Amino acid sequence: MEVTNAQLAARRTKAVPRGVSTAHPIFAARAENAELWDVEGRRYIDFAGGIAVLNTGHRHPKVMAAVEEQLRRVTHTAFQVSAYEPYIALAERLNALAPVSGPAKTILFTTGAEAVENAVKIARAATGRSGVIAFAGGFHGRSMMTLGLTGKVAPYKKQFGPMPGDIYHVPFPVPDHSITVADCLRAIDFLFRADLAPERVAAIVIEPVQGEGGFYPAPTELMQELRRLCDRHGILFIVDEVQTGFARTGRMFAVEHSSVRPDLIAIAKSLAGGFPLSGVIGRAEIMDMVEPGGLGGTYAGNPVACAAALAVLDIIAEERLLERAEIIGASVKSRLQRIASRNDTVVITGIRGPGAMVGFDIVASRGTYEPDAAATRRVTEAALAEGLVLLSCGVFANAIRILVPLTVSDAVLDEGMDKLEAALKTARA
Ligand code: PMP
Repeated sequence: MEVTNAQLAARRTKAVPRGVSTAHPIFAARAENAELWDVEGRRYIDFAGGIAVLNTGHRHPKVMAAVEEQLRRVTHTAFQVSAYEPYIALAERLNALAPVSGPAKTILFTTGAEAVENAVKIARAATGRSGVIAFAGGFHGRSMMTLGLTGKVAPYKKQFGPMPGDIYHVPFPVPDHSITVADCLRAIDFLFRADLAPERVAAIVIEPVQGEGGFYPAPTELMQELRRLCDRHGILFIVDEVQTGFARTGRMFAVEHSSVRPDLIAIAKSLAGGFPLSGVIGRAEIMDMVEPGGLGGTYAGNPVACAAALAVLDIIAEERLLERAEIIGASVKSRLQRIASRNDTVVITGIRGPGAMVGFDIVASRGTYEPDAAATRRVTEAALAEGLVLLSCGVFANAIRILVPLTVSDAVLDEGMDKLEAALKTARA
Protein backbone atom coordinates (compact mmCIF):
# COMPACT_ATOMS: atom_id res chain seq x y z
CA MET A 1 0.00 0.00 0.00
CA GLU A 2 1.60 3.27 -1.08
CA VAL A 3 -0.55 5.64 0.93
CA THR A 4 -3.42 5.19 3.37
CA ASN A 5 -6.70 7.06 3.72
CA ALA A 6 -5.54 8.22 7.17
CA GLN A 7 -2.27 9.64 5.82
CA LEU A 8 -4.12 11.55 3.11
CA ALA A 9 -6.70 12.78 5.63
CA ALA A 10 -3.90 14.22 7.76
CA ARG A 11 -2.37 15.96 4.74
CA ARG A 12 -5.77 17.24 3.70
CA THR A 13 -6.40 18.75 7.13
CA LYS A 14 -3.14 20.69 6.87
CA ALA A 15 -3.44 21.73 3.23
CA VAL A 16 -7.17 22.28 2.59
CA PRO A 17 -9.54 24.50 4.61
CA ARG A 18 -12.43 23.09 6.66
CA GLY A 19 -14.96 25.06 4.62
CA VAL A 20 -15.05 22.38 1.95
CA SER A 21 -16.31 19.31 3.74
CA THR A 22 -16.10 15.73 2.49
CA ALA A 23 -18.90 13.28 3.27
CA HIS A 24 -16.68 10.21 3.57
CA PRO A 25 -13.11 9.77 4.91
CA ILE A 26 -11.89 7.80 1.89
CA PHE A 27 -9.68 8.84 -1.01
CA ALA A 28 -10.59 7.56 -4.45
CA ALA A 29 -7.90 5.78 -6.44
CA ARG A 30 -9.93 4.57 -9.41
CA ALA A 31 -13.50 4.05 -10.51
CA GLU A 32 -15.46 2.11 -13.11
CA ASN A 33 -19.18 2.47 -13.88
CA ALA A 34 -20.95 2.12 -10.49
CA GLU A 35 -17.93 0.99 -8.46
CA LEU A 36 -14.95 2.78 -6.99
CA TRP A 37 -11.81 1.74 -5.12
CA ASP A 38 -10.03 3.75 -2.46
CA VAL A 39 -6.26 4.17 -2.11
CA GLU A 40 -6.16 1.12 0.18
CA GLY A 41 -7.73 -1.04 -2.53
CA ARG A 42 -11.12 -1.31 -0.84
CA ARG A 43 -14.10 -1.56 -3.21
CA TYR A 44 -17.28 0.51 -2.87
CA ILE A 45 -20.54 0.58 -4.76
CA ASP A 46 -21.33 4.17 -5.70
CA PHE A 47 -24.87 5.32 -4.95
CA ALA A 48 -23.75 8.99 -4.99
CA GLY A 49 -22.63 9.20 -8.62
CA GLY A 50 -20.42 12.19 -7.83
CA ILE A 51 -23.57 14.07 -6.69
CA ALA A 52 -25.71 13.30 -9.76
CA VAL A 53 -22.91 13.74 -12.29
CA LEU A 54 -22.56 10.12 -13.33
CA ASN A 55 -25.86 9.00 -14.85
CA THR A 56 -23.68 7.27 -17.47
CA GLY A 57 -21.31 5.89 -14.81
CA HIS A 58 -17.65 6.46 -14.01
CA ARG A 59 -15.43 6.57 -17.10
CA HIS A 60 -17.94 5.24 -19.62
CA PRO A 61 -15.81 3.77 -22.45
CA LYS A 62 -17.59 5.91 -25.07
CA VAL A 63 -17.04 9.09 -23.04
CA MET A 64 -13.37 8.13 -22.58
CA ALA A 65 -12.95 7.50 -26.31
CA ALA A 66 -14.58 10.82 -27.24
CA VAL A 67 -12.39 12.67 -24.75
CA GLU A 68 -9.20 10.96 -25.97
CA GLU A 69 -10.09 11.86 -29.54
CA GLN A 70 -10.72 15.50 -28.56
CA LEU A 71 -7.46 15.62 -26.56
CA ARG A 72 -5.59 14.95 -29.78
CA ARG A 73 -7.26 17.91 -31.54
CA VAL A 74 -7.74 20.92 -29.26
CA THR A 75 -8.31 21.24 -25.50
CA HIS A 76 -8.86 24.99 -25.11
CA THR A 77 -9.14 28.13 -27.16
CA ALA A 78 -11.76 30.08 -25.18
CA PHE A 79 -14.98 30.17 -27.17
CA GLN A 80 -14.82 33.98 -27.13
CA VAL A 81 -11.48 33.86 -28.97
CA SER A 82 -12.18 31.16 -31.52
CA ALA A 83 -15.08 28.75 -31.55
CA TYR A 84 -15.00 24.99 -32.26
CA GLU A 85 -17.44 22.47 -33.67
CA PRO A 86 -18.18 20.32 -30.58
CA TYR A 87 -19.76 23.35 -28.85
CA ILE A 88 -21.99 24.05 -31.87
CA ALA A 89 -22.89 20.38 -32.31
CA LEU A 90 -23.81 20.08 -28.64
CA ALA A 91 -25.91 23.26 -28.73
CA GLU A 92 -27.77 21.90 -31.78
CA ARG A 93 -28.52 18.61 -30.07
CA LEU A 94 -29.63 20.22 -26.80
CA ASN A 95 -31.86 22.66 -28.71
CA ALA A 96 -33.56 19.73 -30.42
CA LEU A 97 -34.14 17.96 -27.07
CA ALA A 98 -35.25 20.94 -24.97
CA PRO A 99 -38.93 21.02 -23.97
CA VAL A 100 -39.32 24.77 -24.66
CA SER A 101 -41.86 26.38 -27.01
CA GLY A 102 -40.51 27.22 -30.47
CA PRO A 103 -36.87 27.40 -31.52
CA ALA A 104 -34.22 27.08 -28.79
CA LYS A 105 -30.65 28.29 -28.34
CA THR A 106 -27.98 27.04 -25.91
CA ILE A 107 -25.03 28.74 -24.22
CA LEU A 108 -22.47 26.69 -22.30
CA PHE A 109 -20.66 27.34 -19.02
CA THR A 110 -18.70 25.25 -16.53
CA THR A 111 -20.54 24.83 -13.21
CA GLY A 112 -24.15 24.47 -12.16
CA ALA A 113 -24.04 27.74 -10.24
CA GLU A 114 -22.81 29.54 -13.34
CA ALA A 115 -25.68 28.10 -15.35
CA VAL A 116 -28.33 29.26 -12.88
CA GLU A 117 -26.65 32.63 -12.40
CA ASN A 118 -26.59 33.18 -16.17
CA ALA A 119 -30.21 32.10 -16.54
CA VAL A 120 -31.09 34.89 -14.12
CA LYS A 121 -28.90 37.38 -16.05
CA ILE A 122 -30.64 36.42 -19.30
CA ALA A 123 -34.07 36.74 -17.66
CA ARG A 124 -33.20 40.19 -16.30
CA ALA A 125 -31.91 41.35 -19.68
CA ALA A 126 -34.91 39.93 -21.54
CA THR A 127 -37.54 41.40 -19.20
CA GLY A 128 -35.83 44.60 -18.06
CA ARG A 129 -36.94 43.56 -14.53
CA SER A 130 -34.91 42.47 -11.51
CA GLY A 131 -37.09 40.50 -9.06
CA VAL A 132 -36.55 36.75 -8.72
CA ILE A 133 -38.75 34.30 -6.81
CA ALA A 134 -37.25 31.06 -5.50
CA PHE A 135 -38.29 28.37 -3.03
CA ALA A 136 -37.45 27.48 0.54
CA GLY A 137 -35.34 24.33 0.60
CA GLY A 138 -34.10 24.93 -2.95
CA PHE A 139 -30.43 24.68 -3.84
CA HIS A 140 -28.98 26.60 -6.76
CA GLY A 141 -25.26 26.96 -5.99
CA ARG A 142 -22.65 28.76 -3.95
CA SER A 143 -21.86 31.88 -6.01
CA MET A 144 -23.39 35.01 -4.46
CA MET A 145 -26.47 35.19 -6.72
CA THR A 146 -27.17 31.47 -6.51
CA LEU A 147 -26.52 31.50 -2.77
CA GLY A 148 -29.15 34.20 -2.59
CA LEU A 149 -31.53 31.92 -4.51
CA THR A 150 -30.69 28.91 -2.34
CA GLY A 151 -33.33 28.41 0.33
CA LYS A 152 -31.28 26.96 3.18
CA VAL A 153 -29.33 29.04 5.71
CA ALA A 154 -26.98 26.54 7.39
CA PRO A 155 -24.39 25.74 6.24
CA TYR A 156 -24.63 27.56 2.91
CA LYS A 157 -25.64 31.18 3.62
CA LYS A 158 -24.86 31.58 7.30
CA GLN A 159 -21.52 33.38 7.18
CA PHE A 160 -21.80 35.13 3.84
CA GLY A 161 -24.36 37.92 3.96
CA PRO A 162 -25.64 40.29 2.86
CA MET A 163 -27.27 38.33 0.07
CA PRO A 164 -27.92 39.99 -3.32
CA GLY A 165 -31.12 42.01 -3.44
CA ASP A 166 -34.50 41.44 -5.07
CA ILE A 167 -34.65 37.71 -4.33
CA TYR A 168 -37.78 36.42 -2.56
CA HIS A 169 -38.46 32.97 -1.15
CA VAL A 170 -41.81 31.24 -0.89
CA PRO A 171 -42.54 27.86 0.76
CA PHE A 172 -42.11 24.68 -1.28
CA PRO A 173 -44.95 22.16 -0.94
CA VAL A 174 -43.96 19.04 0.99
CA PRO A 175 -46.89 17.10 2.51
CA ASP A 176 -44.72 15.67 5.33
CA HIS A 177 -43.75 19.22 6.30
CA SER A 178 -47.44 20.20 6.25
CA ILE A 179 -47.02 22.61 3.33
CA THR A 180 -49.50 22.35 0.47
CA VAL A 181 -49.57 23.72 -3.07
CA ALA A 182 -52.28 26.13 -1.90
CA ASP A 183 -49.95 27.41 0.89
CA CYS A 184 -47.26 28.06 -1.68
CA LEU A 185 -49.59 29.89 -4.08
CA ARG A 186 -51.04 31.93 -1.23
CA ALA A 187 -47.49 32.97 -0.25
CA ILE A 188 -46.86 34.22 -3.80
CA ASP A 189 -50.13 36.13 -3.69
CA PHE A 190 -49.11 37.74 -0.36
CA LEU A 191 -45.68 38.50 -1.80
CA PHE A 192 -47.28 40.33 -4.73
CA ARG A 193 -49.39 42.37 -2.29
CA ALA A 194 -46.79 43.03 0.40
CA ASP A 195 -43.35 43.24 -1.19
CA LEU A 196 -43.07 42.86 -4.91
CA ALA A 197 -45.29 44.02 -7.78
CA PRO A 198 -45.61 41.12 -10.26
CA GLU A 199 -44.54 43.45 -13.09
CA ARG A 200 -41.18 43.80 -11.33
CA VAL A 201 -40.50 40.05 -11.41
CA ALA A 202 -38.02 38.80 -14.02
CA ALA A 203 -38.21 35.11 -13.18
CA ILE A 204 -39.44 32.29 -11.00
CA VAL A 205 -36.70 29.67 -10.45
CA ILE A 206 -37.59 26.13 -9.39
CA GLU A 207 -36.08 22.66 -9.32
CA PRO A 208 -38.63 20.21 -10.81
CA VAL A 209 -37.48 17.86 -8.04
CA GLN A 210 -35.66 19.54 -5.14
CA GLY A 211 -32.24 17.92 -4.88
CA GLU A 212 -30.19 19.04 -1.88
CA GLY A 213 -33.48 20.09 -0.24
CA GLY A 214 -34.65 16.48 0.07
CA PHE A 215 -35.65 14.89 -3.26
CA TYR A 216 -39.14 16.37 -3.18
CA PRO A 217 -40.91 16.51 -6.56
CA ALA A 218 -42.68 19.78 -7.36
CA PRO A 219 -46.33 18.72 -7.82
CA THR A 220 -47.60 19.00 -11.43
CA GLU A 221 -50.39 21.25 -10.19
CA LEU A 222 -47.78 23.70 -8.83
CA MET A 223 -45.71 23.65 -12.03
CA GLN A 224 -48.81 24.34 -14.13
CA GLU A 225 -50.00 27.11 -11.83
CA LEU A 226 -46.56 28.77 -11.87
CA ARG A 227 -46.56 28.65 -15.67
CA ARG A 228 -49.97 30.37 -15.68
CA LEU A 229 -48.73 33.03 -13.23
CA CYS A 230 -45.68 33.64 -15.40
CA ASP A 231 -47.83 33.99 -18.53
CA ARG A 232 -50.23 36.34 -16.78
CA HIS A 233 -47.49 38.70 -15.53
CA GLY A 234 -44.80 38.41 -18.21
CA ILE A 235 -42.47 36.53 -15.84
CA LEU A 236 -39.95 33.99 -17.20
CA PHE A 237 -40.11 30.44 -15.89
CA ILE A 238 -36.64 29.02 -15.18
CA VAL A 239 -36.21 25.35 -14.27
CA ASP A 240 -32.99 24.32 -12.57
CA GLU A 241 -32.35 20.84 -14.01
CA VAL A 242 -28.78 20.71 -12.74
CA GLN A 243 -29.49 17.66 -10.54
CA THR A 244 -32.59 16.29 -12.29
CA GLY A 245 -31.38 16.35 -15.90
CA PHE A 246 -30.22 13.83 -18.43
CA ALA A 247 -32.38 10.76 -17.82
CA ARG A 248 -32.18 10.65 -14.01
CA THR A 249 -35.96 10.90 -13.60
CA GLY A 250 -36.85 8.70 -16.59
CA ARG A 251 -37.13 11.74 -18.87
CA MET A 252 -34.32 13.74 -20.44
CA PHE A 253 -35.51 16.72 -18.32
CA ALA A 254 -37.64 16.28 -15.20
CA VAL A 255 -39.90 19.20 -16.18
CA GLU A 256 -41.31 16.90 -18.88
CA HIS A 257 -43.23 15.00 -16.17
CA SER A 258 -45.49 18.05 -15.75
CA SER A 259 -45.83 18.87 -19.50
CA VAL A 260 -45.00 22.47 -18.59
CA ARG A 261 -42.80 24.30 -21.07
CA PRO A 262 -40.22 26.47 -19.27
CA ASP A 263 -38.60 29.54 -20.85
CA LEU A 264 -35.08 28.75 -19.66
CA ILE A 265 -33.43 25.52 -18.44
CA ALA A 266 -30.21 25.42 -16.38
CA ILE A 267 -28.22 22.23 -16.97
CA ALA A 268 -24.93 20.76 -15.66
CA LYS A 269 -23.78 17.64 -13.75
CA SER A 270 -24.67 14.49 -15.79
CA LEU A 271 -24.54 16.50 -19.03
CA ALA A 272 -20.87 15.64 -19.52
CA GLY A 273 -20.38 12.34 -17.66
CA GLY A 274 -17.76 13.58 -15.18
CA PHE A 275 -16.32 16.58 -17.01
CA PRO A 276 -17.10 20.16 -15.94
CA LEU A 277 -19.78 21.55 -18.24
CA SER A 278 -23.02 23.42 -17.74
CA GLY A 279 -25.37 25.53 -19.81
CA VAL A 280 -28.58 27.40 -20.30
CA ILE A 281 -31.06 26.28 -22.94
CA GLY A 282 -33.91 28.63 -23.68
CA ARG A 283 -36.36 30.10 -26.13
CA ALA A 284 -34.27 31.64 -28.91
CA GLU A 285 -35.84 35.09 -28.77
CA ILE A 286 -35.14 35.33 -25.02
CA MET A 287 -31.60 33.96 -25.31
CA ASP A 288 -30.78 36.60 -27.94
CA MET A 289 -31.82 39.54 -25.75
CA VAL A 290 -28.35 39.80 -24.17
CA GLU A 291 -25.97 41.99 -26.15
CA PRO A 292 -22.69 40.52 -27.49
CA GLY A 293 -20.08 40.25 -24.74
CA GLY A 294 -22.68 40.14 -21.96
CA LEU A 295 -22.30 36.39 -21.46
CA GLY A 296 -19.40 33.96 -21.46
CA GLY A 297 -16.47 32.68 -19.41
CA THR A 298 -12.87 31.71 -20.12
CA TYR A 299 -13.45 27.97 -19.72
CA ALA A 300 -17.16 28.02 -20.58
CA GLY A 301 -18.05 25.19 -22.96
CA ASN A 302 -14.61 23.58 -22.87
CA PRO A 303 -14.10 21.43 -26.02
CA VAL A 304 -13.08 18.29 -24.10
CA ALA A 305 -16.21 18.56 -21.95
CA CYS A 306 -18.34 19.18 -25.08
CA ALA A 307 -16.94 16.00 -26.66
CA ALA A 308 -17.81 14.10 -23.48
CA ALA A 309 -21.36 15.53 -23.51
CA LEU A 310 -21.95 14.52 -27.12
CA ALA A 311 -20.97 10.96 -26.13
CA VAL A 312 -23.29 11.12 -23.09
CA LEU A 313 -26.26 12.00 -25.32
CA ASP A 314 -25.41 9.05 -27.60
CA ILE A 315 -25.18 6.70 -24.61
CA ILE A 316 -28.52 7.83 -23.17
CA ALA A 317 -30.18 6.96 -26.51
CA GLU A 318 -28.22 3.78 -27.34
CA GLU A 319 -28.46 2.24 -23.87
CA ARG A 320 -32.08 3.35 -23.45
CA LEU A 321 -31.31 5.04 -20.15
CA LEU A 322 -34.75 6.70 -19.89
CA GLU A 323 -36.34 3.26 -19.65
CA ARG A 324 -33.49 2.00 -17.50
CA ALA A 325 -34.10 4.85 -15.01
CA GLU A 326 -37.71 3.68 -14.61
CA ILE A 327 -36.64 0.06 -14.10
CA ILE A 328 -33.95 0.96 -11.55
CA GLY A 329 -36.33 3.32 -9.72
CA ALA A 330 -39.11 0.70 -9.55
CA SER A 331 -36.74 -1.96 -8.24
CA VAL A 332 -35.15 0.34 -5.63
CA LYS A 333 -38.54 1.59 -4.45
CA SER A 334 -40.09 -1.86 -4.11
CA ARG A 335 -37.08 -3.04 -2.12
CA LEU A 336 -37.35 0.06 0.12
CA GLN A 337 -41.10 -0.57 0.61
CA ARG A 338 -40.30 -4.06 1.87
CA ILE A 339 -37.68 -2.67 4.26
CA ALA A 340 -40.13 0.02 5.46
CA SER A 341 -42.60 -2.64 6.56
CA ARG A 342 -40.11 -4.38 8.84
CA ASN A 343 -39.13 -3.62 12.43
CA ASP A 344 -35.40 -4.35 12.51
CA THR A 345 -34.15 -1.16 10.82
CA VAL A 346 -34.28 2.58 11.52
CA VAL A 347 -37.76 3.89 10.67
CA ILE A 348 -37.96 4.85 7.01
CA THR A 349 -40.84 6.70 5.38
CA GLY A 350 -41.77 8.89 2.42
CA ILE A 351 -40.21 6.74 -0.33
CA ARG A 352 -40.49 8.97 -3.38
CA GLY A 353 -39.12 10.41 -6.57
CA PRO A 354 -39.60 10.00 -10.32
CA GLY A 355 -37.54 7.43 -12.23
CA ALA A 356 -34.23 6.69 -10.53
CA MET A 357 -34.18 9.92 -8.47
CA VAL A 358 -35.21 8.07 -5.33
CA GLY A 359 -35.25 9.51 -1.83
CA PHE A 360 -36.68 8.51 1.53
CA ASP A 361 -36.72 9.95 5.04
CA ILE A 362 -35.52 8.62 8.37
CA VAL A 363 -37.75 9.51 11.30
CA ALA A 364 -37.68 8.89 15.04
CA SER A 365 -40.74 6.66 15.23
CA ARG A 366 -43.42 5.09 13.09
CA GLY A 367 -46.56 7.09 12.32
CA THR A 368 -45.17 10.51 13.24
CA TYR A 369 -42.91 12.82 11.25
CA GLU A 370 -40.01 13.64 13.55
CA PRO A 371 -36.85 13.95 11.41
CA ASP A 372 -33.91 11.92 12.78
CA ALA A 373 -30.73 13.53 11.45
CA ALA A 374 -28.50 11.58 13.86
CA ALA A 375 -29.86 8.22 12.65
CA THR A 376 -29.45 9.41 9.05
CA ARG A 377 -25.78 10.16 9.71
CA ARG A 378 -25.40 6.68 11.24
CA VAL A 379 -26.89 5.18 8.07
CA THR A 380 -24.41 6.86 5.71
CA GLU A 381 -21.53 5.88 8.03
CA ALA A 382 -22.71 2.29 8.31
CA ALA A 383 -23.17 2.18 4.54
CA LEU A 384 -19.56 3.22 4.01
CA ALA A 385 -18.43 0.50 6.42
CA GLU A 386 -20.45 -1.97 4.29
CA GLY A 387 -18.75 -0.67 1.12
CA LEU A 388 -21.47 1.66 -0.16
CA VAL A 389 -21.03 5.36 -0.92
CA LEU A 390 -24.35 6.94 0.04
CA LEU A 391 -25.49 10.57 0.41
CA SER A 392 -28.02 12.21 2.64
CA CYS A 393 -29.85 15.49 1.94
CA GLY A 394 -32.90 17.43 3.08
CA VAL A 395 -33.67 20.60 4.96
CA PHE A 396 -33.80 18.50 8.15
CA ALA A 397 -30.75 16.40 7.08
CA ASN A 398 -32.88 13.26 7.39
CA ALA A 399 -33.30 12.17 3.77
CA ILE A 400 -31.27 9.51 1.99
CA ARG A 401 -30.92 9.96 -1.77
CA ILE A 402 -29.98 7.38 -4.34
CA LEU A 403 -28.12 8.57 -7.43
CA VAL A 404 -26.71 5.28 -8.69
CA PRO A 405 -25.43 5.39 -12.29
CA LEU A 406 -28.18 4.36 -14.73
CA THR A 407 -25.62 2.10 -16.40
CA VAL A 408 -25.30 -0.04 -13.23
CA SER A 409 -25.69 -3.79 -13.74
CA ASP A 410 -28.55 -5.58 -11.97
CA ALA A 411 -26.01 -7.54 -9.91
CA VAL A 412 -24.19 -4.44 -8.63
CA LEU A 413 -27.50 -2.64 -7.98
CA ASP A 414 -28.76 -5.60 -5.90
CA GLU A 415 -25.49 -5.79 -4.02
CA GLY A 416 -25.72 -2.07 -3.29
CA MET A 417 -29.28 -2.47 -1.99
CA ASP A 418 -28.13 -5.36 0.25
CA LYS A 419 -25.51 -3.04 1.71
CA LEU A 420 -28.07 -0.26 2.16
CA GLU A 421 -30.40 -2.67 3.96
CA ALA A 422 -27.55 -3.81 6.24
CA ALA A 423 -26.70 -0.16 7.02
CA LEU A 424 -30.34 0.62 7.87
CA LYS A 425 -30.23 -2.29 10.34
CA THR A 426 -26.88 -1.32 11.88
CA ALA A 427 -28.01 2.30 12.33
CA ARG A 428 -30.94 1.22 14.52
CA ALA A 429 -29.48 2.45 17.80
N1 PMP B 1 -28.53 23.60 -8.89
C1 PMP B 1 -28.82 22.41 -8.37
C2 PMP B 1 -30.23 21.90 -8.45
C3 PMP B 1 -27.82 21.62 -7.78
O1 PMP B 1 -28.12 20.43 -7.26
C4 PMP B 1 -26.49 22.12 -7.74
C5 PMP B 1 -25.35 21.33 -7.12
N2 PMP B 1 -25.68 20.40 -6.17
C6 PMP B 1 -26.24 23.39 -8.29
C7 PMP B 1 -27.27 24.10 -8.87
C8 PMP B 1 -24.85 23.99 -8.28
O2 PMP B 1 -24.01 23.30 -9.12
P1 PMP B 1 -22.41 23.47 -8.99
O3 PMP B 1 -22.03 22.87 -7.67
O4 PMP B 1 -21.85 22.74 -10.17
O5 PMP B 1 -22.13 24.93 -9.05
